[in-house]
Amino acid sequence: MEKNKAILHLDLDTFFVSVERKLHPELNNRPVLVGGLGDRGVVAACSYETRRYGVHSGMAMKVARQLCPAATIIKGETTTYSKYSNEVTEIIQNKVPAFEKASIDEFYADLTGMDRFFGTYQFATELRKEIIRESGLPISFGLSRNKVVSKIATPRARPSLIIKSS
Ligand SMILES: [Mg+2]
Repeated sequence: MEKNKAILHLDLDTFFVSVERKLHPELNNRPVLVGGLGDRGVVAACSYETRRYGVHSGMAMKVARQLCPAATIIKGETTTYSKYSNEVTEIIQNKVPAFEKASIDEFYADLTGMDRFFGTYQFATELRKEIIRESGLPISFGLSRNKVVSKIATPRARPSLIIKSS
């Protein structure tokens, strides 16, 4: 077994909401819900502004609207989100050959061995900055010796902090 494994987990912050805000900047700093609009609709993504009202993704849209009536509700387009997801995938792919796309907004990359050239933490920080600059979408990361710990670290790094676990 490799002694100094370095596994990076990258997760786009409130991805669908971030894409909608990139396309419609007037939604910035406003409560936004993305998801099904019908009676059985479910919240696919919600902005941080809605969370203080108890809204979370996976909840019935009907309930979310009651909790946060001021929210702008958007149906969302899978094809649009896939396009931006692919854009981010390409940026990662160009920098790290050993990566895995875990979902539309989540990636793992094996940075093991890179510290010989330029520390893995510095590399991850620069990769994150590049993704934000090129795609215009916020993203957070966790870095540790394994996938599980890195994934746990990532949400704690939000909305824009970074946690390093050794
Ligand atoms: Mg995400």
